[in-house]
Amino acid sequence: MRDVVKKFGQTTVLDGVDLTVHAGEVVVLIGPSGAGKSTLLRCINGLERINSGTITVGGQQLSYDEKSLNRVRSRIGMVFQSFNLFPHMKVIDNLTMAQTDVLGRSKQEARDRALELLERVGLADKARAYPDNLSGGQQQRVAIARALAMDPEVMLFDEPTSALDPELVGEVLQVMRTLADDGMTMVVVTHEMRFARKAADRVVLMADRGIAEAGTPEQVLEHPTSERGRAFLAELS
Ligand code: ADP
Ligand code: MG
Repeated sequence: MRDVVKKFGQTTVLDGVDLTVHAGEVVVLIGPSGAGKSTLLRCINGLERINSGTITVGGQQLSYDEKSLNRVRSRIGMVFQSFNLFPHMKVIDNLTMAQTDVLGRSKQEARDRALELLERVGLADKARAYPDNLSGGQQQRVAIARALAMDPEVMLFDEPTSALDPELVGEVLQVMRTLADDGMTMVVVTHEMRFARKAADRVVLMADRGIAEAGTPEQVLEHPTSERGRAFLAELS
């Protein structure tokens, strides 16, 4: 992102944000509620339209014609706080639908890929279950597998564990850790500081319409230099 400005009406939410995420990098976004973290993620995949500046994904500059949006979205997987699974479809069908409809994979190919990914998130035995019969942590792992089924180059996570009961948070973070270790490029909005500390290559602290602080987890979480950074981290501890 270069000099990205995003406004809602008269309100400026992102005021000239510069952010580069390299291939294979895990960037964790933290910061107070209302700082613009979700908006930033939504701008990256074109769910929100920026007012000025540029966003480039995998060498291609984002524009807002349908073709460009489809192209950029096909490269980006997104996981939200709410799991957003299709409740009337079995887990396996949640994972195969977009593969066949969007990527044009055969049913068999899509099933094979789905089962491989369910295995990877530890849910191979839930392929024929309906989302309602799974725990929140299991549903979120299915949502991650569903995003991965599209073979994205980048994964965006917006507070993926915030809606979960505390005892279910760990299993989702574990799947994300594995994904990070396997080299996936990830931008993760989270309040889980342990995850930030262990999995992030870089922590970016947002406040006051932009990036207040960015650096290694150690730099940002242990030795913040900005006033806003210090204040936010002091509130957490
Ligand atoms: P965060 O995810 O860091 O909590 P958000 O990106 O959700 O912050 O929101 C940043 C600011 O933009 C907030 O003041 C929020 O009220 C505002 N905002 C977010 N989405 C919209 C919208 N669709 N319309 C108007 N204002 C919005
Ligand atoms: Mg948010």
